[in-house]
Amino acid sequence: MHHFHYIDGVLHAEEVSLGRIAQEVGTPTYVYSQATLTRHFQAFSRAFQGMDHLVCYAVKANSNKAVMALFASLGGGADIVSGGELARALAAGVQPERIVYSGVGKTEAEMEAALKAGILMFNLESVDELEVLNQVAGRLGVKAPVSFRVNPDVDAHTHPKITTGLAKNKFGLDMETAFRQYPIAAALPHVELKGVSCHIGSQLTDTRPFADALDRVARLVEKLREVGINLSLLDLGGGLGITYDQESPPQPDEYAAALKETVSRLGMKLILEPGRVLVGNAGILMARVLFTKQTPAKHFVIADAAMNDLIRPSFYDSYHAVWPVAKAAAGETQVADLVGPICETGDFLARDREMPAFERGDLLAVLSAGAYGFAMSSNYNSRPRAAEVLVNGGQYSVVRQRETLADLSRGEKLPSWPG
Ligand SMILES: *Cc1c(COP(=O)(O)O)cnc(C)c1O
Repeated sequence: MHHFHYIDGVLHAEEVSLGRIAQEVGTPTYVYSQATLTRHFQAFSRAFQGMDHLVCYAVKANSNKAVMALFASLGGGADIVSGGELARALAAGVQPERIVYSGVGKTEAEMEAALKAGILMFNLESVDELEVLNQVAGRLGVKAPVSFRVNPDVDAHTHPKITTGLAKNKFGLDMETAFRQYPIAAALPHVELKGVSCHIGSQLTDTRPFADALDRVARLVEKLREVGINLSLLDLGGGLGITYDQESPPQPDEYAAALKETVSRLGMKLILEPGRVLVGNAGILMARVLFTKQTPAKHFVIADAAMNDLIRPSFYDSYHAVWPVAKAAAGETQVADLVGPICETGDFLARDREMPAFERGDLLAVLSAGAYGFAMSSNYNSRPRAAEVLVNGGQYSVVRQRETLADLSRGEKLPSWPG
């Protein structure tokens, strides 16, 4: 469900014509719908009504300040994976006591910043990390609130690059190690045990792996109770999938229903870390067609957006629907590759796809680009990063300016050695 739709043959975000945004802001541009973001957040949170819970938006999916601030205003917290995300989440108004910090490689400086901010919980992913955090907290004279992120070894049945809960993945502690480490952590002077966490992957289209992971985590929680360790926070990560093409992922209600019984039995406060499901279908990437060309093998549509703007098709083989901004009256289609200007064969946004018979100058929208879109963009080929626009009803606001040519070499200088 989203608010990108045609009015009189022209694609609109809510009530704003994308043609108008292209004219005034240029292309390529990410456009987000505030009504969609709000609706997704509320539907997700409402699904867990009646369960003590906190929605910590996984800010790596889309870390635009306006997006983070919107979710914070709706009562959301943040799931962060770096000191950079901590700084940005705080600047966007996320309350520190609603921030959980995940990730396998936190530096001492990052730990220190998070301790000083007073975050809710560190999700620890190694024994080394526990020891270092205990030392850092000791230096500051505070106790670090922690959980262990466990790796339940369940198959999330998703793309290999976004599976995180298999024994061979780098994430979390295996169950045995976690069980042995909790009492050790409990005895450390500068650590306070808060909970347990897990996150098994992204773009899951079935509730089964979530339920399996929860069962394993629940067993650990109960075994820990038998040895006198009582945890209060149960963080089940993110990972709920969205519809890009033909997928039919569970609705938030079904997802919540699959977890409810076990969570209530445990009687812990539930933390959820949704990313993609909140923002994915709330954003599009708008581009303009530069050229078309017919080769003996294929028809190519060459746009001004490229893999540096949206890397998901080449990195994850992912599908994004492509819609014309202005529907042609004839509605002719053509099988084509939609590609960008980057000097890589892997630079494509859609491949062998039946799409409108685009011509030079046409505008198009790449759908479902709100998650892992701008956030994964780069300056490869010295391309300034796209602008980001937030639409709210009949108004829009540029929430990130398009980068300038000067931005491209910001911080660079010639070597300063003598001679
Ligand atoms: C990426 C990530 C998430 C969010 O995943 P989505 O699939 O976008 O919901 C949540 N928690 C952790 C620890 C993550 O790394």
